[in-house]
Amino acid sequence: MLAAAQEKLKQHYGHDSFRPGQSHVLERVFSKKNCMGMMPTGGGKSVCYQIPSLLLPGITVVVSPLISLMKDQIDELKEAGIDATFINSSLSAEETTARMDEIKMGLQKLVYVAPERLEAPSFLRMLQRLPVSLLAVDEAHCLSQWGHDFRPSYMRIPELISSLPEKPVVLALTATATPEVSKDICRALNIYEENVVKTGFARENLSFHVVKGADRDHYVTDYIERNPEASGIIYCATRKEVERQYEALRKKGASCGRYHGGMSPDERRTMQEQFVYDETKVMVATNAFGMGINKSNVRFVFHRNMPRNIESYYQEAGRAGRDGGDSDCVLLFSPQDVQIQQFLIEQSQMSEERKQQEFDKLQTMTHYCHTETCLQKYMLAYFGDNQSADCGRCSECVDSRELEDITKEAQMVFSCIKRMGERFGKTMTAQVLTGSMNKKVKELKFHQLSTFGLLKKRTQKDVAQLIDFLAASDYLRLSGGNYPVLQLTEKVLPVLKGEALVTRKTVSRPEKVSAEHPL
Ligand code: ADP
Repeated sequence: MLAAAQEKLKQHYGHDSFRPGQSHVLERVFSKKNCMGMMPTGGGKSVCYQIPSLLLPGITVVVSPLISLMKDQIDELKEAGIDATFINSSLSAEETTARMDEIKMGLQKLVYVAPERLEAPSFLRMLQRLPVSLLAVDEAHCLSQWGHDFRPSYMRIPELISSLPEKPVVLALTATATPEVSKDICRALNIYEENVVKTGFARENLSFHVVKGADRDHYVTDYIERNPEASGIIYCATRKEVERQYEALRKKGASCGRYHGGMSPDERRTMQEQFVYDETKVMVATNAFGMGINKSNVRFVFHRNMPRNIESYYQEAGRAGRDGGDSDCVLLFSPQDVQIQQFLIEQSQMSEERKQQEFDKLQTMTHYCHTETCLQKYMLAYFGDNQSADCGRCSECVDSRELEDITKEAQMVFSCIKRMGERFGKTMTAQVLTGSMNKKVKELKFHQLSTFGLLKKRTQKDVAQLIDFLAASDYLRLSGGNYPVLQLTEKVLPVLKGEALVTRKTVSRPEKVSAEHPL
């Protein structure tokens, strides 16, 4: 079957051979094993179900949340000589019936559906009468409650499968799944561990950068002025911020559009099309923009604010460079972003358990901004890939500052946290270490601790940054929601015993040239 598949690949797509991940997935699909393909954006996931749809006897149903993409995808498929259709809420009732009739008559082999369709009994009844050979679940992480993009209608998929008289092969596909999410998907869709095909999420053409303390407006304008031909997205945290950034860029004469939930659907569509067809170069947007945007030549993705978790960040930043060309992903970090996100989680309607989980994810995202290890490797480890090498391109990898031995300071911080009973946060700890004699410190008698004022030569901000670094390097754990307290991890003991050193890149870091000028 694989040889026939290869022929189809050449005939319809013009590619000579499958990528390793694709053939591993296809082998499983053809031997009727439920399986999952975890591949990065641009890894070639669609081929994994499009080719089988040409070779399997029955129809292939693709569940995809990307309604806005469906029409384009189907047009592209038609151009490649593959017949396909879609059913989603953008169609009229008559159109839906007409398409369902075509499917029933066997005229369509590949059918894209929006997950909401699975809630319509008439649609389910139709599927039950059809020979479904393959059910592909795109963006499968939407199935997990622990994912960042949970969609309740995805929960219907297992039900759908068990209601089908002939069980189809199930193929889950995703570009962002933590080990937890991946387990959830496997459980829900009955996929054995050995049938999970991972090609790694590494994106070799992306250079990640974290920029701290920069004037964000200046940074963005400067970058765009230096790269006038580059297409890019600037993500902002709020609609207001989008408007402000958009106006600022327009005043500078930049070719840009904007996109957020407060605009009319027509306006959004126009802005999106202008961007996709290269009529405007830069899109200033909230995170409402991007899901399902099929634009391959995005050369940079900026985040003016830190997103809430690594999954969202990797997905949004990953919209850069789908064509394989070198691209920059820049996160402009400010410590206030952390507080804003904490506030938003606290104010949300989520359950306490869920809030705690969101706080933990936020913590990992914050650590990303303070880590001094390879940024891509840090994110890949979060997704369960601990084998990846340093990327050699990110702002940490290209930062050639010397390593400094900071074991003594680290020991001071650790002892201080220990003496304070591991019950206080970063600010209070930094105050005690720098010898700040405020009311609370006195009340708690912390000025009598032997660690009081041990780092008095340094500013409170500097010590707070040291604590951030130690937390990002796993020496400290921050636990408890909105006002997290610092606790020591097991990595601390060897340091306190003098058996392990702590090193950090030289701290005076005003000109982080590589990160300030990524291109
Ligand atoms: P994903 O859905 O994983 O983001 P796509 O399926 O859109 O990725 O594929 C990304 C690009 O890779 C497309 O341009 C596609 O034509 C190309 N591609 C897919 N499979 C192969 C292959 N075997 N050889 C060469 N190019 C491929």
